[in-house]
Amino acid sequence: MASVKRNDSTNSGPKEDNSDTNDEENSELCAGFKDVDTFVKYGLGAVLSATKASASLPQAGDEFDFYRSFPGFQEFCESQGDKLLLCMSQIMQHHGCRSHIKDRNKLTGVEERFDLVVDSNDAILERAGILLDEADGVNRSQQPVMPAGFQPPKIVVSSWNRKGSGSGSRSEMFRLLHAKNVARPQLKFKEKIDNSNTPFIPKIFIKPNAVKPLPSYFTNKQMRKQRPEDLDVPAALADFIHQQRTQEHVEDMFAHPYQYELNHLTTPESLLSKSEPQMYKPMADTKCSFIDSLEGLVALNEKLCTMSEFAVDLEHHSYRSFLGLTSLMQISTREEDFIIDTLELRSEMYILNEAFTDPAIVKVFHGADSDIEWLQRDFGLYVVNLFDTHQASRALNMARHSLDHLLKHFCNVESDKRYQLADWRIRPLPEEMVQYARTDTHYLLYIYDRVRAQLLDFNHGQPGLLQSVWSKSKDISLKKYVKPIYTEESYLELQRKQKRSFNTQQLTAFRLLFAWRDKLARQEDESTGFTLPTHMMIKISEELPKEPQGIIACCNPVPPLVRQQVNELHSLVQEARETPLLKAEVAAQKKKGLTPIKKTEVILFGPHDTSRVSESDLHPFSLDELPAKQGLLFSEDEQKMDVDEQKTHCLMASAKITMFEETETKIDEESLPVSQMKSRRIIESFENPFRMYLPSSDVHVNKNAKFDPSSKIFEISKRWKLQSIEQQQKEMEDKKKAKEEAREHAKKATEERNKAKKSYQESLQNVATVRQQAAESAKGGGQKRERVPSEVGESTPKPSKKLMKTAEKPQKTEPPPEETFKPFDYSQSDLKVFAGTKGKDNPQFDPNRQGNEIRRKRGQKGQKPNFGAGNRSMSYMAGKSDRGFRHNWPKR
Ligand code: AMP
Ligand code: MN
Ligand code: ZN
Repeated sequence: MASVKRNDSTNSGPKEDNSDTNDEENSELCAGFKDVDTFVKYGLGAVLSATKASASLPQAGDEFDFYRSFPGFQEFCESQGDKLLLCMSQIMQHHGCRSHIKDRNKLTGVEERFDLVVDSNDAILERAGILLDEADGVNRSQQPVMPAGFQPPKIVVSSWNRKGSGSGSRSEMFRLLHAKNVARPQLKFKEKIDNSNTPFIPKIFIKPNAVKPLPSYFTNKQMRKQRPEDLDVPAALADFIHQQRTQEHVEDMFAHPYQYELNHLTTPESLLSKSEPQMYKPMADTKCSFIDSLEGLVALNEKLCTMSEFAVDLEHHSYRSFLGLTSLMQISTREEDFIIDTLELRSEMYILNEAFTDPAIVKVFHGADSDIEWLQRDFGLYVVNLFDTHQASRALNMARHSLDHLLKHFCNVESDKRYQLADWRIRPLPEEMVQYARTDTHYLLYIYDRVRAQLLDFNHGQPGLLQSVWSKSKDISLKKYVKPIYTEESYLELQRKQKRSFNTQQLTAFRLLFAWRDKLARQEDESTGFTLPTHMMIKISEELPKEPQGIIACCNPVPPLVRQQVNELHSLVQEARETPLLKAEVAAQKKKGLTPIKKTEVILFGPHDTSRVSESDLHPFSLDELPAKQGLLFSEDEQKMDVDEQKTHCLMASAKITMFEETETKIDEESLPVSQMKSRRIIESFENPFRMYLPSSDVHVNKNAKFDPSSKIFEISKRWKLQSIEQQQKEMEDKKKAKEEAREHAKKATEERNKAKKSYQESLQNVATVRQQAAESAKGGGQKRERVPSEVGESTPKPSKKLMKTAEKPQKTEPPPEETFKPFDYSQSDLKVFAGTKGKDNPQFDPNRQGNEIRRKRGQKGQKPNFGAGNRSMSYMAGKSDRGFRHNWPKR
């Protein structure tokens, strides 16, 4: 850009803009290079050969892996790698960037290194830009000018004001005029600011220059303004009415009010053909009006409506407001400059729509993207027929596209962009700030002329390129303001940008702090950056301070709202600390926004958080994929096994006596014999190793294991929880189907089972196993017992009174009741046991038990027997069956 001679205003094709590197023709250069050209030539040569060399390296993947299997190659790679890292590190250091790229301890992966390189590149290029500017004559190292009687400025490092550590000129460049004593302009606004977490609805209610009329929603003031809650109706009804009313208008409400006009806008021939640039008037000879009254604004509008073009710019304040405030509007015609106090005239600005939407008047902006949104948001202003000089600069491929560059390039004017970040709420506006603001539009119409001419020249007089700029400008004017909306996921987006890996506690803290910040910022109408800067939020999340003081310590300086609400913040951090701690990778999965549940392979590690899992997300746990198929039970294999089970019936049941009794079983201990109480105590000290497979909302895992991050138990138990949600859903459908099937199968099975059972029982009658005997003697069997002796130890969480009573008075042992075998009516069973769902009043099939009590209880609805849920396919009953799962041993 500097190659363009400063005052050469006629010859400035885009080409010469590209040769930035020739700037410093007379500067001293490092040894061996007499001028920039030789240095650049040498540099380019080096870059070229390096690129070539790197392209001929073995490709990543097989080829590289193959070469790497040779130790020589490997060594070479390593040494060269270290060299390169050292070299890069030195370059970074030279430019004052973070440079621990070489430090293996501080950096883990390529990704992190890559980020570092990208950051450094940004910083270095920016620095180069600044130096080029300096060489170009743009001096940014002056102190910002303070408003009259102003306190020494405070440097406020805000989000976009990164790296205060740079060179002196650099940090000064970002100095922000931060006025502590500026009255909040919001207080004077006639229409209160709407920070609610609802989508933005255009403010327009009159549509000048309409081809398509404004939808009734906007024109009907009553509909807009008078919400039904103003009427004398109950709140619920008011909401309903409002919803009904607005629903009809949803499309209108969110459409761009001038979409139709913009889509049908054609650029007239005159604007696509060559015209002589009209020189700007010297600023000193130009009248400048400060407009802060309605009359002034109306007069201005009248004037603008007679123009064929005018230039517009805005100044904006975003630190002490949630959505931001358009604080100033500058307008320049060929003859005059206007500065409009938009804080004062906020509610009246809409009248400018008459000029702003007049398709016969060109509105010239530089970089209008934000301006278009601010105009809509604050004033309900729209622009029809926009020309954006920033888009022109791009199309012309200029070296830089900032306004100050264009000013320098076309007008040889130095604009002091330090004011850009001043506090534009300050009133009265210091003269220097007025001058700066004027500069932003004063020359813009001339620049508009110049770039149009160049766009035509550049395209050999053809309008194509110029047309594309008009078109791009139109696209910008079609932009719609979108209000920041807080969702449950918003924090993840921000967290993703931070490239930090949080564990679950840290992520929870981040989520809670994010929500707190958003809510408070909206409520207090402050920016989130003022409320709690993101870097402090991260610091608190990472540290999870135990004390309120620790939170304060994470912040420097302490934001006023943080100090004010430190106790609230403290309780949020506490809450986060109480969440189960899981590894960073797990948290990272969440942060990546994958719903891990959707991927079968990560199922085990995924479903920690049921709260944000919708039932449809639980697909992988669908019933059909569960290991236990309904039909399996009734397969031939199964039947055989059932018979086998009968053979070992006593043993089996005895085994179920449970080493792993549940502590919370509320058996009246006094009613138990001493020996039994002892054994109970011992038993209580064990943990059922299969508990982790047991689905329940009340999962019985060792408490430590449950919250042990390394414990699969926790994850698996959670998985089962999730599973049951899905199954509940399916339950109803499957129930019917399953019952029918079961009935059929049962019929077939009946005969065979009957036979087998009978013969088995006969053979068993006089045989009592050792265990059986032991069990019987320990517990004593009552006459009225409903259970076979082998079931003695099989307690239930809520044992029946009956059982306890009988236990009180040990009686003589009794052989297993010998009743005629009746097969279990499977139609009574609820097969969702195989789905792991809960079923309060549904019996579950237990092959162990089908012998005795089942028969008796058959047909008694709501009084189903207690079955163990064991079955060999490792599918267990779920839910908070009131029987618990203490006996839910998987059978071997
Ligand atoms: P401009 O169009 O250059 O006059 O900028 C308009 C408004 O945009 C300024 O008043 C600032 O509020 C904002 N702005 C411009 N540049 C920056 C920047 N680099 N960082 C943050 N805000 C900016
Ligand atoms: Mn601007
Ligand atoms: Zn500006």
